[in-house]
Amino acid sequence: MHTAKPRFLFCQIFLWGNLDMILILKKNATKQQIDTLCHSLKSKGLSLHQSEGEQSHIIGLVGDTKSLDMDSLRANPAVEEVRRISEPYKKANRKFHPQDTIVNCSGVLVGGGNFAVMAGPCSVESPEQITLVAQEVKKAGASILRGGAFKPRTSPYSFQGLRDDGLELLRHARSLTGQPIVTEIMNTEHLPLFEDVDVIQVGARNMQNFELLKELGKLNKPILLKRGLSATLEEFVMSAEYIMAGGNENVILCERGIRTFETSMRNTLDISAVPMLKKMSHLPVIIDPSHAAGLSWMVEPLAMAAIAAGADGLMIEVHNDPANALSDGAQSLTPKQFSALMQRVCPLLTLMEKQLN
Ligand code: PEP
Ligand code: MN
Repeated sequence: MHTAKPRFLFCQIFLWGNLDMILILKKNATKQQIDTLCHSLKSKGLSLHQSEGEQSHIIGLVGDTKSLDMDSLRANPAVEEVRRISEPYKKANRKFHPQDTIVNCSGVLVGGGNFAVMAGPCSVESPEQITLVAQEVKKAGASILRGGAFKPRTSPYSFQGLRDDGLELLRHARSLTGQPIVTEIMNTEHLPLFEDVDVIQVGARNMQNFELLKELGKLNKPILLKRGLSATLEEFVMSAEYIMAGGNENVILCERGIRTFETSMRNTLDISAVPMLKKMSHLPVIIDPSHAAGLSWMVEPLAMAAIAAGADGLMIEVHNDPANALSDGAQSLTPKQFSALMQRVCPLLTLMEKQLN
């Protein structure tokens, strides 16, 4: 056991290096309580570095602490405070995987300098609508067709999506344009219906549907994970970790605006999430400016900001008749507006040294 004066404690903790967690023990902890705690930690394969000063007794833990339960440690009679030093996510962590991950969406690459635009209507509404929009967004330069078949709506009385028929219409549109499709899953029971979908989207409302994330972790298919309405970035990356822990490392993170005190827009686009997520994780990060703003005229400036901040792609809602859209008309661009946006976006991508796929 090391002994150190309090002022040296933190220098010593620094010198231990590679610490994963620190436990600060209670002043009145008994030797027996401390021994029991140390024994239990060692039995979990952790190595312990102790520092006992006049004011405090600290145990530094090195090893795989990700499955340690912080709450039960806090409840231990010998423990005053628990601090995690390393992040609780490993597979998604850039520290252990410095290179950018490139996710292959049926031939369309996202990440590591590859930029992809996913565009299409909020909801698949009819054969005419989806085939027309699919052709228009392809012509304008989008590489992946989006469209919701199962819709998570705030009101049970709003249009809920065409469901299985919507998926069939997306597959039909893909057969016409050759573009991969991305569409949202809401329920593990629907998984068999998504076998032939190129990219499965997990919507903001399901970001912490852990049972769904675990099932998606068993697939070998790209997952587009959207940030929850009020999720911290660590919670967001932990949700990606759920999918990756199951073996599926093809995860794309999507920032789509968060809830703040601002009411003039549907949500507030968290642009700072792009550089921060890229620092935290090696996974590609895309931006959905449509759901962030909820206003069609804001989509282009936010898309430009996303690219300037280093995003790896965009998801944009496009509708042939936004005024009569069955969902999210106010934020949907017409094909003409989308084409104009693509014209503006391309030079910026060149400037940012991104390859539009
Ligand atoms: C969508 O993409 O249509 C959607 C519902 O998005 P979000 O989950 O971000 O609200
Ligand atoms: Mn929508």
